[in-house]
Amino acid sequence: MAVQREWLDRDFYSDLGVASDASASDIKKAYRKLAAQLHPDRNPGDSAAEERFKKVSEANSVLSDAEKRKEYDEARALMASGRFRGDGAGGFGGGGYTTTGGAGGFDLGDLFGGAGGGAGMGGFDFGDIFGGGGRSRSRTRQQQPQRPRRGNDLETETTLAFRDAVKGNTISLRVTSPSPCTTCHGSGAKPGTSPRTCTSCNGTGFLQRDQGHFGFAEPDPECQGTGTKIDEPCADCSGSGVQVRPRTINVKIPVGVEDGQRIRLTGQGEAGRRGAPSGDLYVTVHITPDRLFTRSGHDLKLQLPVSISELVLGTTVSVPTLDGSVGVKIPPNTADGRTLRLKGRGVPKRAGGVGDLLVTVKVAVPPKLDDSAVEAMKAYAAAEQAAGFDPRAGWGR
Ligand SMILES: [Zn+2]
Ligand SMILES: [Zn+2]
Repeated sequence: MAVQREWLDRDFYSDLGVASDASASDIKKAYRKLAAQLHPDRNPGDSAAEERFKKVSEANSVLSDAEKRKEYDEARALMASGRFRGDGAGGFGGGGYTTTGGAGGFDLGDLFGGAGGGAGMGGFDFGDIFGGGGRSRSRTRQQQPQRPRRGNDLETETTLAFRDAVKGNTISLRVTSPSPCTTCHGSGAKPGTSPRTCTSCNGTGFLQRDQGHFGFAEPDPECQGTGTKIDEPCADCSGSGVQVRPRTINVKIPVGVEDGQRIRLTGQGEAGRRGAPSGDLYVTVHITPDRLFTRSGHDLKLQLPVSISELVLGTTVSVPTLDGSVGVKIPPNTADGRTLRLKGRGVPKRAGGVGDLLVTVKVAVPPKLDDSAVEAMKAYAAAEQAAGFDPRAGWGR
């Protein structure tokens, strides 16, 4: 995960209307509110709302991810401090690169070389970027193949029933977003024709420029960094290869998913321009409560109503589980509030094994008894006293 070049042009905090020191929950709240207001399904045909919706989603995809947010903050601080410049020349901001449509960004590793791949999840390494001195950009460029600009990541939400979340399920999700054009299959070229290699950059998508003591590659304006040219653009997408349209995506919900968890669907985000790879789709899962069960990690919990006589005399009660009912034996003289553990009747674990079902007994007192029951109860109370049972023995002092 490296910082993307275009992140630095953006103020994600103001996109979400939050302060730069906002807490994770403030960010989540602000995003939810804006996303609900601006959702394309609520604002059909309103391109301003759609644009805002995209910005808000992008801002959230960075700020809601602690790792990405940290990198974004660090890169911005560095920009502000002026260190992010090559030898006092035009520097980083002067590259003349503008994003086109929904295309995704470069990462700094790509622009400056060196950091590329090796940085992995750790983000970019400034030592690598600035320490290299005479590192030649063009040398690195030839080692690394051009990375086409991928589409942006998308955020969406879904709500699952409690039992579907526990057992896992496949759901259909409807998303309206930039998607590969169905007419030209994303190439941007009119059907029957195909894009040709751009002669200005020989298909690399970049032009070399030497600046200060490190070389600098900037996207070729001739082909907007794609490396290809289209003579006859597809009429349905004006040559972009991308159309905003609703799509239905089947999402496999993993077993045991938890409320608030995000599922990443690789390549299901916004389509890249002209066949460049799509971004990813992040689905935040909300779970509706169940009538009977609650959850604590991999254990399920259940409250079981019982009568006083059942607790005193003991009995076997039929108890629902996620896989049908089972008979649960309540031993004689069980205390109210005691929890019985049913092994392996809880939530499946991804690593293997299953949690338990915790059944807590709770006395239900009859609202009304008929005469014979009242008589029997009185006889019982007398017998209890005669046996010397004092529920408050040792209590209260
Ligand atoms: Zn098309
Ligand atoms: Zn070109």
